Amino acid sequence: MHPATPPPPEKVATATPPQPDPNRLMRTCANCGAEMEERKCKLICRGCGYFLSCSDYY
Ligand SMILES: [Zn+2]
Repeated sequence: MHPATPPPPEKVATATPPQPDPNRLMRTCANCGAEMEERKCKLICRGCGYFLSCSDYY
């Protein structure tokens, strides 16, 4: 009666970036990759001095 429709592709786009340790998410310097230190409302990089305010990383 009606033409057979092919089954929909079951490919699910997994756009999940690699997250080796979710607990340390956003605790790594985006500039040099060093560990960042949390102070009050800022994250400060120990390596290069790069910092994020809470309004940036939340
Ligand atoms: Zn850094």
